[in-house]
Amino acid sequence: MIKGTAITKSFGKLDVLKGIDITVQKGEVLAVVGPSGSGKSTLLRCLNYLEQPSGGNIQFEGMSVDNKNISQIRQEVGMVFQHFHLFPHMTVLENVTYSPIKVKKVKREKAELMGIELLKKVGLKEKSGEFPNRISGGQKQRVAIARALAMEPKVMLFDEPTSALDPEMVKEVLSVMKDLAKSGMTMIIVTHEMGFAKEVADRVIFMDDGKIVEEGNPDDFFLQPKTPRAKEFLEKVL
Ligand code: ADP
Ligand code: MG
Repeated sequence: MIKGTAITKSFGKLDVLKGIDITVQKGEVLAVVGPSGSGKSTLLRCLNYLEQPSGGNIQFEGMSVDNKNISQIRQEVGMVFQHFHLFPHMTVLENVTYSPIKVKKVKREKAELMGIELLKKVGLKEKSGEFPNRISGGQKQRVAIARALAMEPKVMLFDEPTSALDPEMVKEVLSVMKDLAKSGMTMIIVTHEMGFAKEVADRVIFMDDGKIVEEGNPDDFFLQPKTPRAKEFLEKVL
């Protein structure tokens, strides 16, 4: 579904991605872990063209990820950020229905029915009429997930979706993500939740200093990391 080859990204003199090869199969759940500053967010942002790579090539379902295809890519690749970026002046339901109505020209009535279904799925149907400043962080993040799903994406990218949450709210968001993974959604998840990655991911990628240093199935990676860098990282975070 996604194939990136030799992706590089520099900001001025700073080389942030130093040649990343990455493939994601349909239905696969890929966890991306690694120290802060290793380029995880930049990689995700390149995959949906929020950042323009400096070099290399990215294909999404055989379509080149570039300026020409950007609006289609953005519709088909959902993204959830650490900070939720909800529209503050819209209700929860309006947040969810906005893009389908605006971008996909879905009829309001249909978008609202679908929106309510999605809010039910993330456990927030009763909050449909609330404004974002009246719900908790965990609830906001679940709305952000519902909003991304409302565009019926083929892939969901998550960039540390639980890092800004109080500990007691992490579980409810991870639980929604776990259900989504079970439903067969293709997902790339940057996370510090190692237990979650071990349980839910089909494959783990470990990044350090702009490169993929190690890659494998979660049991191997977490129990028997091969590289010294991965060992050192896991000793710090586990
Ligand atoms: P991670 O998500 O793994 O913590 P990032 O991809 O956010 O890493 O950042 C990797 C490096 O790129 C960091 O040194 C960061 O300061 C730098 N960086 C990220 N975005 C920008 C930007 N827009 N301009 C300049 N430097 C950036
Ligand atoms: Mg990051």
